[in-house]
Amino acid sequence: MFERFLKLSLLVCLLGGALLAEAAPITVTSARVWPSNDYTRITLESAQPIKHTMMTLKDPDRLVLDLENVDLGATLKSLSDKISINDPYIKQVRVAYFKPDVVRLVVDLKTEAKPSFFSLQPAGEYKYRLVLDVYPAQDPLMAALQERENPQENSGTGTSETASTESATGESGGYVPPEKTTESAKPDVSPDNTKKTATGGQRTLIIAIDAGHGGEDPGARGARGSHEKNITLAIAKKLKAKIDAEPNMRGVLTRDGDYFIPLNGRVVKARKLQADLFVSIHADAFVSPSARGSSVFALSERGATSAMARYLAKQENESDLIGGVSLDTKDPYLARTLLDLSQTATINDSLKLAKAVLGRLGEINTLHKGSVEQAGFAVLKSPDIPSILVETAFISNPEEERRLNDAAYQNKLADAILAGIKRYFTSNPPLAKSKVVER
Ligand SMILES: [Zn+2]
Repeated sequence: MFERFLKLSLLVCLLGGALLAEAAPITVTSARVWPSNDYTRITLESAQPIKHTMMTLKDPDRLVLDLENVDLGATLKSLSDKISINDPYIKQVRVAYFKPDVVRLVVDLKTEAKPSFFSLQPAGEYKYRLVLDVYPAQDPLMAALQERENPQENSGTGTSETASTESATGESGGYVPPEKTTESAKPDVSPDNTKKTATGGQRTLIIAIDAGHGGEDPGARGARGSHEKNITLAIAKKLKAKIDAEPNMRGVLTRDGDYFIPLNGRVVKARKLQADLFVSIHADAFVSPSARGSSVFALSERGATSAMARYLAKQENESDLIGGVSLDTKDPYLARTLLDLSQTATINDSLKLAKAVLGRLGEINTLHKGSVEQAGFAVLKSPDIPSILVETAFISNPEEERRLNDAAYQNKLADAILAGIKRYFTSNPPLAKSKVVER
């Protein structure tokens, strides 16, 4: 009798527990918004995965997201306050219960958009994430390029509203084929392009400057609390200003704000711009706080040149997991497979560029190692653009973290990188740029 009672109570407990577990609503613990001209991202984080659906509605343009079995807590309620009035794509977000167990988010858009709504497994410090990426209807990079090619047709800020007309070549947001790489077709991001080319008589060299990490991916963190993503952007902006001040040179940032770009996206951006060089800027951490010094890396197709190089490449390549890339849809403008071509020639040029930059960095900082290192960095995989990754210093070293935050030292780093680039071009004139046929 007693045994039966025990069994029965156990059953009741199990059933009750199961029902309770299923019924307990999930709390969104963090809501983050990352606005940018490229796209705006909303991230919702929770301890458990959330079932979700999305609808796209027109007149007016809006997105409807339903989150199942979610508690409409303070974090979700505060989401509408986090939308900036200057957000390029999102007008406002409204949050309310649609049904007793379904929270509905209505995202009112400022313009027609291409949304991508996906979930991410826990990664880094993050738990489960739901991510909504709102892309403009037209690739803003291509719109900006077209605007420069046809300034009389398009004027304004380069947003989708100002550059929606197709160019004379019939391109409507597609890739600029490398066959178009002639001196006259070389895109320049500056309105004073004519002045620059007229004085030098040489085509403008495009340097893609890649500020490592960004947005959801903070990169490494120093003991004083600095984030690598902010330091890399500060140095990248200084480098761009210095490059732009050079005759016949133009710097283009892969990101100009605090938002995430996938590693492949950085490569694709540089190729769309037909960049002559690609320089990725970092300030990573190592397990030991005593690790110090600058390093410059090139791609390796056959393993890493040292344990440190292997470690850093692994850290860097995890950026997409932390930053959050959808496995199915991805960024509609950047989802491109990389060409499967031999990179030997480009790696040789990358090594020359890396050596020139390392030499200059050695004049302002200790070098972690006296030679260029190589590892399988995904961000360096352009088959036709010499690409380097500069580890300016270790953010995990307290003394180097202090200097990395110092504007004067950031300027010194930018000066050294530019001096290395100029030295590279002196012995490797850009006319020999190889052309790759897109397949
Ligand atoms: Zn990094």
